[in-house]
Amino acid sequence: MGQKPIPFHRPYGGRAEEEAILRVLRSGWLTMGPETAKFEKEFAAYVRAPHAVAASSCTAAMHLALVVAGVGPGDEVITTPYTFCATLEAIEYVRAKPILADVTEDTLNIDPHEIERKTTKRTRAILPVDFAGHPCEMNAIRSIADRHGVAVISDAAHSLSARFRGQPVGSLADLTAFSFYVTKPLSTGEGGMVTTARADWNERLRVLRLHGMNRDAWRRYASARSWYYEVEELGYKYNLTDLQAALGRAQLRRQETLRRRRQQIAAAYSEALADVEEIQCPVALSHVDHAWHLYVIRFRTPEPSATRDRVISCLSDRGIGASVHFIPAHYHPYYARRCRGRRGDFPVAEQAFEGALSLPIFPGMRVSQVGRVVRCIKFALARQAQ
Ligand SMILES: *Cc1c(COP(=O)(O)O)cnc(C)c1O
Repeated sequence: MGQKPIPFHRPYGGRAEEEAILRVLRSGWLTMGPETAKFEKEFAAYVRAPHAVAASSCTAAMHLALVVAGVGPGDEVITTPYTFCATLEAIEYVRAKPILADVTEDTLNIDPHEIERKTTKRTRAILPVDFAGHPCEMNAIRSIADRHGVAVISDAAHSLSARFRGQPVGSLADLTAFSFYVTKPLSTGEGGMVTTARADWNERLRVLRLHGMNRDAWRRYASARSWYYEVEELGYKYNLTDLQAALGRAQLRRQETLRRRRQQIAAAYSEALADVEEIQCPVALSHVDHAWHLYVIRFRTPEPSATRDRVISCLSDRGIGASVHFIPAHYHPYYARRCRGRRGDFPVAEQAFEGALSLPIFPGMRVSQVGRVVRCIKFALARQAQ
């Protein structure tokens, strides 16, 4: 073969990232401090949110968001089954109950009609997920939330740089949580952020993310009574470090470029796969700017999951990475028990999962590599047809 492997994902990093890490290393302040404060400011400006609070992960960010929104034991939070387990995990942390609402066939995002149907007196929040980087129908979700007086907390792990009707993700929901995990649009290895327009929530998020202390470490050390702090309430160890924040700042400046690169890869896939009858390509609705974190095709053969598995093994034989997003939440034994979800309860999500395949897409990928991936998929499909 002699061809280089194509990984499923490779994080983007260049000179700016290297220099940022060195700058922090040499400054002598490694954990949360001035870099984190600058990162938060720049991030808030980028997503046009009044406040951004850095956290150790998106899971932590969602947990904090649920706490400040007042979600607690006995409350219900409506979310999607077509997500990573972290979304439901955060709901469990506040001892609320995840209530699943099926997705729409086109974007695989939560269906506003299903949200409406699942809303009860106990509903306290709606937690939509921008699957693959495609923003959810925020106007419809907002109007349901307002009518029932509940909060909208958005899981934007996939959708940094995306826009809904021209507005950046991060400025749409009451609270928006982002992930800086290694595969995500902005990567610091691990990390997260939560944005909000509310000043009181901003203050409380800051207290909660570091042991419930009333002041951030760097402010504490900068003040005259440098040793003094008070613990206001039970908090968490959910802070970001300045090393991560420095990486984050360098990556934030590249967001538009990185999004454009992924969009080019997505367009190249869609063009090359347009004539393949067995494949349904992902869509971007006309009123959104898609972040293209994932490029998820769906097989529409008689046995989509068998086709998918054969294509994955063919790709893997040629050193091409692929993945599947997502195993529906109620397929996991723990969440099946918690959500009382049975197979058949969420037909759109379940059917999508059967034939879903995530292809490599990352900013450093070349269009010629898209060609190789597509040729391999076509080869696998032709062999299956024989
Ligand atoms: C990756 C991911 C998360 C979790 O992000 P972490 O930063 O690893 O906590 C949450 N939700 C979705 C949809 C994800 O893909």
